[in-house]
Amino acid sequence: MRRYTGADVIVIGAGLAGLNAALHLQEGGARVQVLEARDHVGGRVHSMRQQGHSQEAGGTYIGAGYERITAVCARVGIELVDVTPMLAFFREQDLVLDGELIRQSEWPGHPRNVFPEPFKTRMPWNLHRVLAVQDNPLPAPERWLDPKFAGHDVSVRSWLAGLGLDEAGVRIAYDVNPSFGDHAGDVSALLLFFRAAFSVAQRRSAPDGVLGYTVENGVQRIPAAMADLLDEGVQFCQTVTAITTGNHEAEVRCASGDVHVAPHVVCALPVGVLRDVTIEPTPMALSGEALRSLASQPVTQMYFAHRSNFWDDDGYAPSMFTDGPAGMFAAARNGKNPEEVTSFTAWIMGARAKRLASLPEEDGVRAVLGAIESVRPAAKGKLEYLGHKAWGKDPCAKGAWAYFKPGQIAKFGATMSQSHGRIHFCGEHLARTARGMEGTMESGERAAREIISM
Ligand SMILES: Cc1cc2nc3c(=O)[nH]c(=O)nc-3n(C[C@H](O)[C@H](O)[C@H](O)COP(=O)(O)OP(=O)(O)OC[C@H]3O[C@@H](n4cnc5c(N)ncnc54)[C@H](O)[C@@H]3O)c2cc1C
Repeated sequence: MRRYTGADVIVIGAGLAGLNAALHLQEGGARVQVLEARDHVGGRVHSMRQQGHSQEAGGTYIGAGYERITAVCARVGIELVDVTPMLAFFREQDLVLDGELIRQSEWPGHPRNVFPEPFKTRMPWNLHRVLAVQDNPLPAPERWLDPKFAGHDVSVRSWLAGLGLDEAGVRIAYDVNPSFGDHAGDVSALLLFFRAAFSVAQRRSAPDGVLGYTVENGVQRIPAAMADLLDEGVQFCQTVTAITTGNHEAEVRCASGDVHVAPHVVCALPVGVLRDVTIEPTPMALSGEALRSLASQPVTQMYFAHRSNFWDDDGYAPSMFTDGPAGMFAAARNGKNPEEVTSFTAWIMGARAKRLASLPEEDGVRAVLGAIESVRPAAKGKLEYLGHKAWGKDPCAKGAWAYFKPGQIAKFGATMSQSHGRIHFCGEHLARTARGMEGTMESGERAAREIISM
């Protein structure tokens, strides 16, 4: 066992939250030691090389108004690539319900379209997003934690029912490929309002005509460049198993047997992982309950190369939004030419991702490929499996992102980020004013400020 002292702050987790906290603390004059379980930084920002392009398994899209992310890129000299021309093509996808392939143009008059009359022209993948903007009670994203809006912390199902959707309509509007939870009864409408309010707010500070960016050769270059700015670097392969907070210092234990001691700890672990870390004394009351009960979304991505442009043969869009095992089967456009499809990713969410993750890999691939080929005979033999990433099965992530069930935001949303003795928490699940990578950065900044102000 080795015992390390000398740092002012130990930061656990070298994702964007931990790295941003570490940088702010270092700039505030603290000596910071970052501990990371993996052998690389970035966490849920993870870029892979595939077929000469970078393929993102995690955070990809940087809203043009993500001020913290764009500022850090400017600081470390990472040039952002404007993806606005690519995004236009993401609207081109067809719908698959119950094995039937439906063109967007057929949807408004299609017998399966059970949306109320005013919503019939909306596609299932964007109706709830449009309504979350139009029907949003939040004047600003940060107000989602204001008790004044707690009455909106109801299920997405009851919110949509209030807008006139029946049970079948809710199923098509939300449950086909849910970003949060397994179905509309499982997630708070207030979370969708927060996401929508942030999406609108960040666009206000975006340059004219630019919707978003990504990073050439991989978004993972951002956390890598942030880590390079740290005087003490990052200690890799340090899986933290326990944190004890005492009167004068906190102690962090690793699976390796090493023990790190410092006056303060920033814990930037994903919530699903944090549940398995022993914290002494145990966080009580609402923050303890939040830790035990906040859910993480299982998401599996399966990557495919195409041997030919099968969509030219059948005349449908390359991408499909399906209610089957292939989930959202999306054409990736990671090259210079926005028109060029570079590969495909099947995004499988929620309960379907859990089922898929329980299968042996070969069976999972067969199920997904079989589902694509049965609705798209033109794709038969044209897709080659490249690999997959199951975020729910990753022991360092235990899910792609956290989500709040109905009632949870009002109950512990505002208090769950409170420090516990000498431990300060941050991470994607504790973002208060922003979402995605931007919210993650904000949470790290907040944790650093808490310590600096002491
Ligand atoms: C599939 C997917 C797509 C996404 N797309 C977007 C997008 O397009 N735009 C956007 O803005 N956001 C997106 N996000 C969200 C964004 O990537 C995350 O919110 C953000 O990267 C989370 O950062 P974090 O620092 O909170 O957590 P993480 O990045 O998970 O960092 C936590 C770190 O802790 C480490 N760790 C885990 N266990 C231990 C342990 N026991 N001891 C020590 N270290 C440990 C992990 O290895 C990791 O490095 C996406 C996420 C996913 C998964």
